Amino acid sequence: MTGWPALAPLIERAGRPAVVEALRAWVEARRGGAEVADEAACARWCAARLAAFLKPSQRRVFNLTGTVLHTNLGRAVLAEEAIAAAVEAMRSPTTLEYDLDGGARGDRDDHIAPWLCRLTGAEAATAVNNNAAAVLLALSALAAGREVIVSRGELIEIGGAFRIPDIMARAGCRLVEVGTTNRTHLKDYAAAIGPDTAAIMKVHPSNYSIQGFTKSVTAAELVPLAREKGLALIEDLGSGTLADLETWGLPHEPTAREAVAAGVDVVTFSGDKLLGGPQAGLLVGRKHLIERIARNPMKRALRLDKVRLAALEATLRLYGDPARLAERLPTVRALARPAADIKAQVERLLPVVQKALGNVATVSVADVRGQIGSGALPVDLLPSFALALKAKGLDRIADLFRRLPIPVIGRIADGTLYFDLRTLDDEPAFTAQLDKLHVVAG
Ligand SMILES: *Cc1c(COP(=O)(O)O)cnc(C)c1O
Repeated sequence: MTGWPALAPLIERAGRPAVVEALRAWVEARRGGAEVADEAACARWCAARLAAFLKPSQRRVFNLTGTVLHTNLGRAVLAEEAIAAAVEAMRSPTTLEYDLDGGARGDRDDHIAPWLCRLTGAEAATAVNNNAAAVLLALSALAAGREVIVSRGELIEIGGAFRIPDIMARAGCRLVEVGTTNRTHLKDYAAAIGPDTAAIMKVHPSNYSIQGFTKSVTAAELVPLAREKGLALIEDLGSGTLADLETWGLPHEPTAREAVAAGVDVVTFSGDKLLGGPQAGLLVGRKHLIERIARNPMKRALRLDKVRLAALEATLRLYGDPARLAERLPTVRALARPAADIKAQVERLLPVVQKALGNVATVSVADVRGQIGSGALPVDLLPSFALALKAKGLDRIADLFRRLPIPVIGRIADGTLYFDLRTLDDEPAFTAQLDKLHVVAG
């Protein structure tokens, strides 16, 4: 290999093992062929293979799908404050589990628990890898080997493999279903309580809604029953939020503070949904129960690392000043963005995108409905504006946008490719790459 100087720059760039792997593949591809080994051709072949190999797999994209918190596109975009805190934690040793006052061992939850208590009114708080883990841990710590009562209308699947009955089984609990799909009454819960009952669980039906002849029992209505019977009342809020969405003209979504105030013993919610922080599962509630949860050996397996804790702490800190949230937290900024502002951006970009597409597509302004995503407010759609592309080979046009240096992801519906600009914050980077669209005029 060293006898072939054409490979030296490749070794410099990709390292020897990768070049050896590429060479082996080259030899393999030519097996049986009569071709004479040609150094330049081999180097070109290996360079192309290594370029694909070296390209990062997880890449930045423009999420113009109209779904602000898109799970497949990584949910919340973090605030600059959270990014800076995460970078600093990545670069240096930190006080992750170290108490500077006494020079003794500290607890990693101490960085976020005081903020979570302040923001929700809870007595205690802890955090784990994600909300699915929070639910699993709460059930395992508080109800393993015993029964947990859940309404049939709340036995949901969140997507992927997160189904309440399965999580319940994995946590070692026996699920006791009460009520029917559309109607559950307080007396249904009361009748299901037995000597083995450990908890009642409420689950926010994040990604669907039952309408018509329905009845469900609120967490507040369950509090007296749970107290009287000495049961833990657990509520999985899913998205949950720490701020009132009405502040920004959005419909109400249950806040963690409301659940705590209602008397729920343990409330769980996600860090990277409406909260707008890093992936995390947050648990807030009564001190003795949160302590039991935090002491459970599974907590160790599900805990957060210093980087995400740093980002989470910085994000929670922003909630200390709700008036500036829309300015500093990208999730809230996108949700609160006025439709007129989005429309102006669509009108500004229309001629630019039309020019880049030449005559292969026609672009117009469309009045669309976006969504929050990640199971928040499934039936409430966000009024927004989009660039609407119509063309013969629409899938091919969508593909061209996905092949840009920063891939652009839209949504195809009714024979139209929509780019909802609610979430387009880096307009210069979007327009700067449009000349790289490999449009072949028809
Ligand atoms: C999203 C959601 C979950 C899972 O949360 P992750 O943070 O994705 O693990 C659990 N329960 C409900 C009700 C949800 O909406």
